[in-house]
Amino acid sequence: MTLQEEIDKRRTFAIISHPDAGKTTLTEKLLLYGGSIREAGAVKSNKIDRSATSDFMEIERQRGISVATSVMSFEYGGKIINILDTPGHKDFAEDTYRTLTAVDSVILVVDSVKGVEEQTERLMEVCRMRDTPVIVFVNKLDREGRLPLDLMDELEEKLNIRVRPLTWPVNRGDRFKGVFNLVEQNLYLFRPGKSTVEEERVLIQGLDDPTLEAQVGSEDAQVLREDVELVEGAYGDFDHQAYLEGRVAPVFFGSALNNFGVRELLETFLSISPLPQGRETDQRRVEAEESDFSGFVFKIHANLDPRHRDRIAFLRVCSGVFERNTFVRHVRLGKNLRFSNPYSFMASRKNVVDQAFPGDVVGLYDRGDLKIGDTLTAGEQFMYQGIPSFSPEVFRELTNLDPMKSKQLEKGIRQLTEEGLAQLFIQDQGRRKIVGTVGSLQFDVIQYRLLNEYGASCRFDPLNFARACWITSEDPGALRAFMEFRGSQIALDRDENPVYFAESEWQLNYLRSDNPKIEFHLTSEFK
Ligand code: GDP
Repeated sequence: MTLQEEIDKRRTFAIISHPDAGKTTLTEKLLLYGGSIREAGAVKSNKIDRSATSDFMEIERQRGISVATSVMSFEYGGKIINILDTPGHKDFAEDTYRTLTAVDSVILVVDSVKGVEEQTERLMEVCRMRDTPVIVFVNKLDREGRLPLDLMDELEEKLNIRVRPLTWPVNRGDRFKGVFNLVEQNLYLFRPGKSTVEEERVLIQGLDDPTLEAQVGSEDAQVLREDVELVEGAYGDFDHQAYLEGRVAPVFFGSALNNFGVRELLETFLSISPLPQGRETDQRRVEAEESDFSGFVFKIHANLDPRHRDRIAFLRVCSGVFERNTFVRHVRLGKNLRFSNPYSFMASRKNVVDQAFPGDVVGLYDRGDLKIGDTLTAGEQFMYQGIPSFSPEVFRELTNLDPMKSKQLEKGIRQLTEEGLAQLFIQDQGRRKIVGTVGSLQFDVIQYRLLNEYGASCRFDPLNFARACWITSEDPGALRAFMEFRGSQIALDRDENPVYFAESEWQLNYLRSDNPKIEFHLTSEFK
C-alpha cells in the first residue's frame, strides 16, 4: 500500500466531555463496533474520584488504567481508528489539552439533561485555538432532557460555534423513539437496553414511509415532520468545508448507554472527518504525505514499574513512515535514537509494530531522553509547535523534608514535571522550587509518587498566587528592571524563561496597564 493509501485509511480523534456526560460509555460502544471488545463494561473509566484520592492505591490503579486506555485503536469499515483518551477531571485538564494537539478532530459529548457544562466550554476553547473540527454527540436522550432546539441554541451560544444537526431525535425520555438520520433520510426505531451491536432493527425510510405513524404514533410523526422542516430551513445545507475548518459543528443525538445513535455517529464520522493532517513546525509546515518520517511526543508515563526506570513516551506520527529499529533524529538533543520495541494500541492485541503511519500513535520505551513536546525526524531540524504550557492556577512551594534525599527529590520532581503532571518554577538558582498545577489533586499525586518512586519526602506550602504569566519585552532593559523590581514574584520555568506570578486577575490587569513595555502571556506559546 502507498503512503497516501495508509493516510487515507486513518482517523485519529479524541472524545471529550464534562465528567459523567458519557465519554467512557460512548468509547466502549465505538469499540464494540470495531469488534475489539465483545461486551459492555470492558472499557475502564479513567475517572479520578476526588473522594477516592486519600486512597493512594487508587491513584496507582488509575495510572495503570490510564496507560491502558491512553490510546485505543480499532478497525471498522476498512478504516483504522485511533481514539485518544483524555482525563475528564478538571485537575488533569492540561493532559487533555496536550492530547488535543495530537488529534485531527474531536467528538464532544454533551449530556442532554445538563446541557453545556463548565468543562465542556473550556475544552471547546482549546479546540478553537487550533480550529480542530468538532462533532457534538448529545447523549442520554433516554432521559428527560432539554428540548433539542433549546440545546442547539445553547451549544451555539456557549461554545461559540455554528451547529448543524445531522440526526434529529423523535421525542425523549420514556418516549424516546429513535433518531432520524437527516443525511440518509431514515429512522431506526429505538429499543432500550441493547448493549451489543444491534442487527435486527426496524428501519423507516423517509418521512413519507406509511409505517411511520404506526410505529411512532401520529403525534410524534407530526412533530418529527415539522422539526425536520424547521431544521432544514433554519440550518441550511451541511457545509463540509466549514466543519473541516472548525467553523461549524455537526450534531448527533442518541443514547450511548443503549447504543443508540452511535452507528449514525460513527459512520458519518468516518465519511466526513479529516484524514491525518500536516502540522506547523518552527521552520515550515510539514504535510502528512511527505516521505520523510516525523512525529512528536505528546504524553509520557513514567515509572510504571518502579524497579525499572522505564518511561513510555506516546509519539504521534505526523509524516512519512516510522520504522522499528531505524535511527531517528531527536532534534532537541541533537542525537540519533532507535527503538527496538515500539508498540501499537490495537485494543485486541498489543503488538510490537514494525511500521507506523501518519495518524498513528506508537508507545516508545524511553530511558529519559524524551520530554513532552519533543520532535523526532528522519534527520531534518525542526520542532513541532503547538504544545503550549498553560498558566497554572494553584501554586505551592516545595520543601524537602529529608536532607539526605535532596538528589532524589531533584530528580523526581524534574521527571514528574517532564511527565506533564505539573510545572516547576525555580527561584534563587534553584534553591526555591515552586510547583504550579491546574488543580490541587496533583499535589497529592506528586507527594505520593516522590515518596514511592524516589524515596523523597516533601511538604507543599500554599502560595497566594493565582496566575503565572510568561513575560517578554522588546526592550531588554525594561524587562530586566521589571524583574529586579518584582524579584519575589519572578521565577524561571524549565526552559529558563522568566515568569511572573500574579496574585489576582485584578493585579495582572493593573500591571499590564502600568508596564506597557512588558507583555504578559498566559500560555508559554508566543512569538
Ligand atoms: P464519562 O465521565 O463522561 O466517561 O461518563 P460515563 O461514560 O462514565 O457515564 C456516566 C454515567 O452516565 C454512567 O452511569 C453511565 O451509565 C451513564 N450514561 C452514559 N450514557 C448514558 C445514556 O445514554 N443514558 C443514560 N440514562 N445514562 C447514560
